[in-house]
Amino acid sequence: MNFFKVIFFILVSLFIFGCSTTGIAESKNSKSRAKENGTVTGRITGVNSQYPVNDKIKEHKLIGPQDFKPARIKKKKFLNTNFTVSLYAKEFRQGNAVYFEITKTSMGQNGFSPEKIIFNGEEIPFSVHRDGCRGILGIHPGMKPGYKNFVFRYRINGKAMELKRVLYIGDVKYPVSKSRLNLGKFSNRDYYKDPKFRDLIVRSAKLKKAALETVSEDRLDNVFSHPRDMHKITGRFWNKRIYLSYSKKGKRMVARKTRVRYHRGLDFKGPVGSPVYSIARGKVVLAEKMFFEGNMVIVDHGNRIFSYYMHMSNIDVKTGDIVMAGDILGKVGSTGMSTGPHLHLSVLIRGVQVDPLSLICLPVRN
Ligand SMILES: [Zn+2]
Repeated sequence: MNFFKVIFFILVSLFIFGCSTTGIAESKNSKSRAKENGTVTGRITGVNSQYPVNDKIKEHKLIGPQDFKPARIKKKKFLNTNFTVSLYAKEFRQGNAVYFEITKTSMGQNGFSPEKIIFNGEEIPFSVHRDGCRGILGIHPGMKPGYKNFVFRYRINGKAMELKRVLYIGDVKYPVSKSRLNLGKFSNRDYYKDPKFRDLIVRSAKLKKAALETVSEDRLDNVFSHPRDMHKITGRFWNKRIYLSYSKKGKRMVARKTRVRYHRGLDFKGPVGSPVYSIARGKVVLAEKMFFEGNMVIVDHGNRIFSYYMHMSNIDVKTGDIVMAGDILGKVGSTGMSTGPHLHLSVLIRGVQVDPLSLICLPVRN
């Protein structure tokens, strides 16, 4: 293998590992009542006129189509004389986002200062607000189930203290696809070795890497949005897939070693041209035509939490834009490595992929 072949192989592997999908397979679990034509169903309009966020709006707000039933959020509490740690999650299981709030009790109003939060050995960034602090952590889909340490270090009148509790993380039975997924021309390994794609492949990988390395302050507020105007999942999170792969010798197709990858996000059904909404407040750190991802937008929600949207027919935002939950980022399409119109949405929390729906249901407060 020469140098370029090695680089291509790495880039291609990274991408397939990162996403890719078709809009074909229907989820058996989907209880969607959406009409096939994808008409707008019950989206609250004018939500963006509410910004800047009024401090008095404390409660979480989720914008979404009528056929989307948000999960009931589970809650755990760790009590202390000076503060309460509240943890919220769709499930305290693999592949979920967890929201935590540490709120001062009446006893802890003076001289209390949060210092550090550590979950399963990893320091979790948090934002200070008037009631205490808040943050979001991601449970890796491959995290070994069991009891994990949640450690909170704080000071009371200058004296260092520590609260240590355990949180049980359960497993999830992720779907496994047995049939080989045909990615059309992208299943032909020779296709993306064409020198005419070389610059775009290399450029796309560099841009994506740089965007996902952005470190910024917490940008989230109490409003979240479903990414579509209808709720129909066609590709489930962390679905184990086998990809068809071949190369051509003359006119003959030669089967190559199949690739087994996890689906790092959710696929949402939608006709070409239907809207794609930002799931939360953030800053656009990438809005580009990419080789594999097609028209792609990455939104930075701060503290290294990102959502990204792929295969769009067009992009309606530009790098640097501040977007609110429910703002249009682009339109559903089938650009890049995609075999049918759909939206691929991923959520990345400090390098950990989580089910995007587990984030938007969290009761984040201002
Ligand atoms: Zn996908």
